[in-house]
Amino acid sequence: MNAVKPANKAKGTVFVREETCKGCSYCVDFCPTHCLELSPGFNARGYHYPTLARADDCTGCDLCGLYCPDFAIFAVRFRDLEKLRKGRVL
Ligand code: SF4
Ligand code: SF4
Repeated sequence: MNAVKPANKAKGTVFVREETCKGCSYCVDFCPTHCLELSPGFNARGYHYPTLARADDCTGCDLCGLYCPDFAIFAVRFRDLEKLRKGRVL
């Protein structure tokens, strides 16, 4: 019998402006589901930027975006993506 693949639990995702990030780690430290990690690689300014290491755990709450002092990350709930694509205000 085949194992049942668990359903994708992710409710949202993040967008990262890697070159704007200064690697302060606020987004990683304050993410309530601990789904972000700083990348092992560097951006052009020599900083580690966040990556969505556990994408299934992202709720799209955008706390990471609220804490980022440089607007280098923001999150979107999947249910709002279509509205964004159509240019409607959330
Ligand atoms: S949107 Fe919320 S759950 Fe997703 S990475 Fe940002 S803080 Fe974490
Ligand atoms: S809070 Fe912003 S500047 Fe700091 S590591 Fe996260 S994305 Fe980079």
